[in-house]
Amino acid sequence: MSITASAVRAWIADYAGVIAEHRQELVALDRAIGDADHGTNMDRGMQKALEKLEATEGDDIGALLKVVGMALVSSVGGAAGPLYGTLFLQMGTATAGRSELDLEGWTAALDAGVKGVQKRGKAEPGDKTMLDALLPAVAALEGGGELADALRRSADAAAEGMRQTIPLEARKGRASYLGPRSVGHQDPGATSSHLLIESAATSLTG
Ligand code: ADP
Ligand code: MG
Repeated sequence: MSITASAVRAWIADYAGVIAEHRQELVALDRAIGDADHGTNMDRGMQKALEKLEATEGDDIGALLKVVGMALVSSVGGAAGPLYGTLFLQMGTATAGRSELDLEGWTAALDAGVKGVQKRGKAEPGDKTMLDALLPAVAALEGGGELADALRRSADAAAEGMRQTIPLEARKGRASYLGPRSVGHQDPGATSSHLLIESAATSLTG
């Protein structure tokens, strides 16, 4: 089993729907430790990304992911827009010219995307950011095996990483202004990142 370009399209469409569904939840999480815009930011960005993707032809997975990344960078303000934009742009660079990915190709792509987020945002693991869901998601892929099983492990690891942001004190982004008062709240970006990896597990293998 492998990941095709149409599966990548299905993933982005699914994620846009999931974000729309969870918009209020993401807003509420960001209201607690930020400025209550994460849900609306992500919803606007993913709607724009989907619109651009639907207007793009072809089965070059790299080109499709770059369209998504560019739409996010150009339509979403705040911290998360450029960071998610970077994730997709770097995934696009890693998959340029490919119309199909096996587990190894997907792992390399997600790894490149997450490294891009790290480089751009300069956050470390445990800083209470989206990386706390994304880094475990990449690590969990490394056990190999069947693609669908690996994607499921990856999504479960992202969920666990997301939950583990609750007791953390934020050290990056707006939530870090709260210092110890950021403790006890789940990070909004880690939550939207978990949703992204969960969406991958359910939609990428068709
Ligand atoms: P803003 O904080 O500008 O309002 P959003 O509310 O859309 O932007 O996104 C907030 C999320 O962005 C946080 O929950 C966190 O996960 C993520 N984030 C913020 N700064 C960084 C960073 N430097 N590195 C990684 N992720 C970050
Ligand atoms: Mg915000």
